[in-house]
Amino acid sequence: MKTVLSGIQPSGNLTLGNYIGAIKNFVKLQNEHDCYFMVVDLHAITVPQEPSSLRDRSESVAALYVAAGIDPNRANIFLQSHVPQHAELGWIMTTLVNMGELERMTQFKDKSEGKDSVGAGLFVYPALMAADILLYNANLVPVGDDQKQHLEITRDLAARFNHRFGPYFNIPEPFIPEVGARIMSLDDASKKMSKSNPVEGSYIAMLDTPDQIRKKISRATTDSGAEVVYDPSAKPEVSNLMSIYSECAGVTLQEVQSRFEGKMYGAFKKELGEVVVAALEPLQNRYHEIRQTGEIHDILAKGAEQAQKTAAQILDGVKDKMGFLAPK
Ligand code: ATP
Ligand code: MG
Repeated sequence: MKTVLSGIQPSGNLTLGNYIGAIKNFVKLQNEHDCYFMVVDLHAITVPQEPSSLRDRSESVAALYVAAGIDPNRANIFLQSHVPQHAELGWIMTTLVNMGELERMTQFKDKSEGKDSVGAGLFVYPALMAADILLYNANLVPVGDDQKQHLEITRDLAARFNHRFGPYFNIPEPFIPEVGARIMSLDDASKKMSKSNPVEGSYIAMLDTPDQIRKKISRATTDSGAEVVYDPSAKPEVSNLMSIYSECAGVTLQEVQSRFEGKMYGAFKKELGEVVVAALEPLQNRYHEIRQTGEIHDILAKGAEQAQKTAAQILDGVKDKMGFLAPK
């Protein structure tokens, strides 16, 4: 049994990219491993958040975890800010990471591009993410392809700590899906689908209504030509839609291709709309039920309590190894 940790930021409406790239794997892993699934609200504030929507979205992400099939009796579901050790180990990791390492991060480059003023938190984001993972001595981190670079830093920091202060941390491995690790924007297949993209048509939200889903898919940009062929370099847009189809219908890319042989984009998109609606509708129904009962608050309280036990123990060990004087 491994220790698994991952999180999603309450920074917008969760997308099909978050579902396919991350949540679907959370659900799979919970049966075999000791799992921690967080709502990473401390990460979300690395870009400005409106307080009332941050609060609502934090609850919403947790409810979506449960609605998607994460069982709070099997996995710990909690808010990052409910476990103060994250911020503390985050600071420690900030002192171990080098500026040059952070400067190479594409997420920082993408998110700071064209902005007049960028908070330092966005720059040191990978240090906090390393802390999130190492605080539970996790071995496996299910993430989308875009987080690979941050996981590499985490591995380097774990090794650096072990080298300087003596063996302590596991070196965590990424767990990245083969299909759907990088779902692209519907309006631009050169960018990944992101919940913080202000263009609503660029993403399908997990909570979009069936009509919104159908409309967004029918308007998605498609490559020239008309054949439904999987070829990400020559046909990035249709290939992206095919990955979505494959993941939502539970069929291989090969099957998608043969199913639409000789058919045009229009027919494919129409069926894709129905496939996505069918994948999300039951989850949405459960989500609305969960939000109504208010049970999520109890789930989060229990999750935070469990998480804190492990986190406090690991952090104590870190501080001891580094030479912090323990309180009497
Ligand atoms: P933001 O724009 O605020 O960064 P995001 O959509 O990138 O939002 P995150 O909270 O940063 O979402 O990431 C949560 C998880 O979802 C991570 O594991 C990340 O790798 C994964 N993920 C995000 N976008 C995609 C995508 N387009 N395809 C596959 N996985 C994704
Ligand atoms: Mg992101």
